[in-house]
Amino acid sequence: MEQEMLQEEDVHSFADASLEIILRFDSNGRILYANARAKEELGYGEELETISLDTLFPAELHQEDGSFPLETALKMTEGTMYRKNGTCFPVEMAAKVNGSQHLLFAINVARQVETERKLVRMKEEMEETLKVRNEFVANVTHELRTPVNGVRGHVTNLLENGVAPEVRETLDIVIRCCDNMSAIINNILDFSKLEAGKFVIEEKEFNFYKMVNHTVETSIPAINAKGLRIMVNIDKVIPEYLIGDELRLTQVLNNFLSNAVKFTSVGYINIEVTKTLQFDDEIELFFVVSDTGIGISPEEKDKLFKSFSQVDASITRKYGGTGLGLAITKQLIELMHGNVHVDSEKGKGSSFSFSVRMHVAQKARDEHQVSEQFEFINQNQEMPGFDNVEKFFQFGTPENVQEIDSKLEKLILCMEVEAWDKAENFAHNIKELVEQAPKDIKRSAFRLEMNVRKGDYDKSVAQFNSLRAQLAENIGGM
Ligand code: ADP
Repeated sequence: MEQEMLQEEDVHSFADASLEIILRFDSNGRILYANARAKEELGYGEELETISLDTLFPAELHQEDGSFPLETALKMTEGTMYRKNGTCFPVEMAAKVNGSQHLLFAINVARQVETERKLVRMKEEMEETLKVRNEFVANVTHELRTPVNGVRGHVTNLLENGVAPEVRETLDIVIRCCDNMSAIINNILDFSKLEAGKFVIEEKEFNFYKMVNHTVETSIPAINAKGLRIMVNIDKVIPEYLIGDELRLTQVLNNFLSNAVKFTSVGYINIEVTKTLQFDDEIELFFVVSDTGIGISPEEKDKLFKSFSQVDASITRKYGGTGLGLAITKQLIELMHGNVHVDSEKGKGSSFSFSVRMHVAQKARDEHQVSEQFEFINQNQEMPGFDNVEKFFQFGTPENVQEIDSKLEKLILCMEVEAWDKAENFAHNIKELVEQAPKDIKRSAFRLEMNVRKGDYDKSVAQFNSLRAQLAENIGGM
C-alpha cells in the first residue's frame, strides 16, 4: 500500500488537538506557528504568530541588546510563560531543533503544582492530627493513671491495716482490677508511641540470665496457682552480659509467657533460648515459648499481631485483655531487628518464636562463663515432648496420672480455703483429664464439678474422696 505523505494541514490539525502548547519558531525567536492550545492559553489569538518567543518568556529569554538567545531557548526544561494580559503560569518544556526552524512543546503545570501543594497541605494536616491525637492519648492515659494509682494505694493501705476476710476478698479484686487497668493504660501509651515512631530502643548492659529468671519468677505465682509446670533452657553459649534494651525484651518475653499461662490449663510451658548468629560482638538470640494450652486455629492465626485483635470474642469475655499485647510485641521485636512467628494447633498448644539482635558486653567477652546459678533456668527437668500433648488426656498414661494428681492437690487446697471459682476450674480440668476413663470415674468427676460449682463444701469433699479412691483403685498411686 502506498504510504500517504502527511500534509502540513494534517500536522497542524494534530497539533491543534494537543493539550500541550506547541510553537514553531526561527533562529531569531520569531514565532511562525502556534497551535490552538497556545493561542487559547496565552490569550494572543492569531497575533501570536507575529511576536517573538522572548515576549512569552521574559525572565528566561529577554536580552538587553534585543538579540535572541537561541541556545538558551533550546535548553529550557522549565520556566514561566506570560500571557498577553500579563498573568503567568509555570510550564515544563522540551525543544526540538528542526533544520533552521525549531519546535517548543510546553505544558501548563499550574494544576499539577496546585495538586502537589494540596498533597503537602494534606500531609501536614495529617501529621498535625496524629500529633494532636498522640498528645491526647498521652494526656488521657496520664490522667487515668493518677486515679488508678490513687485507688490502688488507698486499698493497699486498708488491707495493711487489717480488714474482715470477706472485705479482703473484695479489696483483692479491686487491686487486681487496678493492675489490669494499669496494664491496659501502659499498652495504649506504648502503642501510640510506636505509631508515632517515637519509640527509642535503649542500649545498656544487663545480665541476660538474670532478666529471663526474673521474668519467669514473676509468673511463678500464676503458674503454680494453675497447677502448671515450667521449663526454661538457655543455651550456655549465650554470654551472661549483653547490651540491649532489657526493659523491652522483658516486656516481649513477659507477653508471650503470660499469654501461655493465661491460655493453658493443663500441662506445661517451655522457654528455650538459643544463639542463631554471632558476628563480632553482635549476637542474634532465638526464643521459643511453647505451651500445651487451647491453641489457635489457622484462620485465627491471621488475626494475631494486629492491633486490638483478639482471635475470638468469647476469648475476650473469658480471659480479658485488649488484644494490643501482640501488636506491640511484634513492633518491639522489629525495633530490635528481629521477627516473630507462631506455630499452633487448636486444642494442643501454641509455640511463639522470635529473634532479637543484641550486643555482647565487654565483660562477657573477657570471661565466657555464666557465673551465677539461676533458680528457674537449665534445671534439666524431664518433660514429655510437645508432640505428645494427647498423652495428658489418655487415661492412665504417666503424664495423665501426674496431671490428675496435681489438679486434685490444687482442688482440695482451693476447697479448704473456699476459693470456689478456682476450685471449679480445677474440677473442670479433672473432668477433662478423665474423659477416657471408665464410666464410674467419669460420673464421679462430673458430680464433683457440680458440687464444687454449688460451693457445697461437705458434698464436694465427700465426692472428692470417692473419686480419689476410684482413681487409686484403677490406676494406682493417688
Ligand atoms: P491481650 O493483650 O488481649 O492478651 P494479645 O495481643 O496478647 O492480647 O493476644 C491476642 C490474642 O491471641 C488473645 O486474645 C488470644 O486469643 C490469642 N493468643 C495469644 N497467645 C496465645 C496462646 N499462647 N495460646 C492461645 N491463644 C493465644
